[in-house]
Amino acid sequence: MIIVGVGNNMVKLGDAGYYKCPRCHNECPFCVMEISKKFDVFWIPVAKWDKRYYLTCTICSYGYEVQKEEINQYIKTGAGV
Ligand SMILES: [Zn+2]
Repeated sequence: MIIVGVGNNMVKLGDAGYYKCPRCHNECPFCVMEISKKFDVFWIPVAKWDKRYYLTCTICSYGYEVQKEEINQYIKTGAGV
């Protein structure tokens, strides 16, 4: 028996500093998230595709998409870089 799964893979890339959120109207810390689709076999990810990057409000989880080339100008603290 082979157990496979498909889901979303979310990775926090770093903190983006404070922005005013267009949804909850709080001025709050945003973070940059990488969200991709993943395919697991026995809970081991074997494929990732459709990578997208979002600036995400940490209060209401509102996110808006940013381009990969723009990420570095948003991330203030280089987590893992
Ligand atoms: Zn918000």
